[in-house]
Amino acid sequence: MHHPAWVSVHGGHSREFCAHAADTLDQMIGAYIDQGYAWVGITEHMPPVSDRFRYPDEVALGLTVEAMHQRFARYMALCRQYQARYADRITIFVGFETETYSGAIPFVKDLRKEFSPDYIVGSVHHVANMPIDTCPADYQAAAESLGGVEALYLHYFDEQLEMIDALAPAVVGHFDLVRIFDTDYGKRFRSPAIQARVRRNLERIRDLGLILDLNLAALSKGATEPYLTEPILLQARELGIPVVPGDDAHSIHAVGRHMDDGIARLMKLGFDTSWTRPA
Ligand SMILES: [Zn+2]
Ligand SMILES: [Zn+2]
Repeated sequence: MHHPAWVSVHGGHSREFCAHAADTLDQMIGAYIDQGYAWVGITEHMPPVSDRFRYPDEVALGLTVEAMHQRFARYMALCRQYQARYADRITIFVGFETETYSGAIPFVKDLRKEFSPDYIVGSVHHVANMPIDTCPADYQAAAESLGGVEALYLHYFDEQLEMIDALAPAVVGHFDLVRIFDTDYGKRFRSPAIQARVRRNLERIRDLGLILDLNLAALSKGATEPYLTEPILLQARELGIPVVPGDDAHSIHAVGRHMDDGIARLMKLGFDTSWTRPA
């Protein structure tokens, strides 16, 4: 029986560098080592472009944009130190996770120049500059301002494509996050207009040779399947796109959680479990 290696292509958030993470970066890496991960991509959130895009927990802590930029610089430096320090126990890739909102794309290009990450995770957490994954009320507000939930999906996938084309991130994070507070998402993905955009974005991901994150954090937040939903996984497999587990861990308890479940889903669908590396 072949046992796929444990890896994570997205996650390892830590409390020194992320207001909603629980444990330190050193503790996080220790947890990955203890659980026998072969390799892990540490992908802390990018700092915001401006005060407007700070999250409420960051505002509450009085964090300014300048302070968050300096904090991010400390993250990149410390993660590089740990990459070298723990190299005989685990392969660490030093990365970060993007935002996609006004001004984010040129800012990510600047961050890449300034910090030379091993790779980045391209994620969309905002649609038309409104956060969609914070709470159901924010989600509804975004949908209503765009003309409904279907319109929210269409905008989401258009902004995702723009981000993919501009940045070609080695990993596309939680591809179908837009379904987060939509109890009818199964039906939604059968809408021809939405399906056309899903297909278009997947084909671009294939053409650019990018990896899809099988984001396991969804399973800890009450979803019955990770991002990606199975109909999208089937299309990714058909297109030959590599799909790799990502725990999106924000605490040591989330390291390895649902990994067996995620791997079993991919094996059942016939995915290659030799896991394409992001760098
Ligand atoms: Zn986070
Ligand atoms: Zn994310």
